[in-house]
Amino acid sequence: MEKILADRTKLIDASGIRKVFALAEKLKDPINFSIGQPDFDVPDELKEEAIKAIRAGQNKYSQTAGDTLLIEKIAERIKKEIGWNEPAVMVTSGISGGLLLAFMALINPGDEVIIPDPYFVIYKHVINMLGGRCVFVDSYPTFQLPLEKIRRAVTDKTKLIIVNSPSNPTGVVYGEEQKRVVAEIAAEKKVIILSDEIYEKFCYEGRCTSIARYYDRVIVLGGFSKSYAMSGWRLGYAAANEVLKDVIEEMTKIQQYTFVCAPSPFQKAAIAALDYDVSRFVAAYRKKRDLIYEGLKDKFELVRPGGAFYAFVKSPTKTATEFVEKAIANNVLIIPGNVFSEKDTHFRLSYATSDEKIERGIEILRRLA
Ligand code: PMP
Repeated sequence: MEKILADRTKLIDASGIRKVFALAEKLKDPINFSIGQPDFDVPDELKEEAIKAIRAGQNKYSQTAGDTLLIEKIAERIKKEIGWNEPAVMVTSGISGGLLLAFMALINPGDEVIIPDPYFVIYKHVINMLGGRCVFVDSYPTFQLPLEKIRRAVTDKTKLIIVNSPSNPTGVVYGEEQKRVVAEIAAEKKVIILSDEIYEKFCYEGRCTSIARYYDRVIVLGGFSKSYAMSGWRLGYAAANEVLKDVIEEMTKIQQYTFVCAPSPFQKAAIAALDYDVSRFVAAYRKKRDLIYEGLKDKFELVRPGGAFYAFVKSPTKTATEFVEKAIANNVLIIPGNVFSEKDTHFRLSYATSDEKIERGIEILRRLA
């Protein structure tokens, strides 16, 4: 294969998560704590909106930047919640699509991107593929933003700082003061912040607000996959303040030659989704968070997650990989921390599953601790 594949393929490593899935395939009815999406389905009202759009023939390309009404509605929300006057908005094929477009529009070979470690997997691999350099700042053991490390990591080559709150894989929500200080650090050298807000709705202690409230050079990436359980519909958005509207314009240009547009009938349903109240799902997930935390805290070292649907738990064995193999041998699927980190000391547990499975899983993990 050496000769036919482009060099950039060597910069991507999919082995970690694949290994877990390969092992998982052999299991019958496992307790699956490895899933990165909600266990509920898209609410019926929103499904109906998508079906209605398909039946009404709204099956062609939308504008490259997205359905005009949806863009307007997202812009209204950004104005209200962030306080920007005239935000530039585009609809993307999931946040994954938005990340690729943003990185392509911003990163030159050699540019540095500061990423709190642990981190969501896509960042590292796409940045590497584009010739950028990931500068990881260790956030263990609290997983809050490591402010002094971020300050020291900024150089003349720093292009971006990535902030993801609530976080995948830790479930940690960053505090207001932390976000304010990171914004201040970024402002000193006019570094752009990329804020991945996909888990904003899964927020268990008050509201999760955007770092963009403190700084105008922020690209906000918002999603629909988790909030409404429509991960297969491939919808997300990117928004920026007027000062960065050129970035959204360039991202739209790149979208034109790659994704073309986000799935158009689903964009129609997304308009309704923005008015849909998901608080009952969030309440159910808050209860799952409590089950997991209370069930593990005396046997394992873990930070109480404030959002998303993950816990990042310290492994009782030397490497997390060892413990993950042990757990899988006992029918519990978890993911070793080295998939999301330069370290292999923790494992990620997703509690996006039934309460009954959570309880059974806790019992097994406690036995293995
Ligand atoms: N960012 C984070 C932090 C995620 O966890 C995910 C999904 N696992 C994504 C982005 C991508 O989501 P999507 O492309 O479905 O919007």
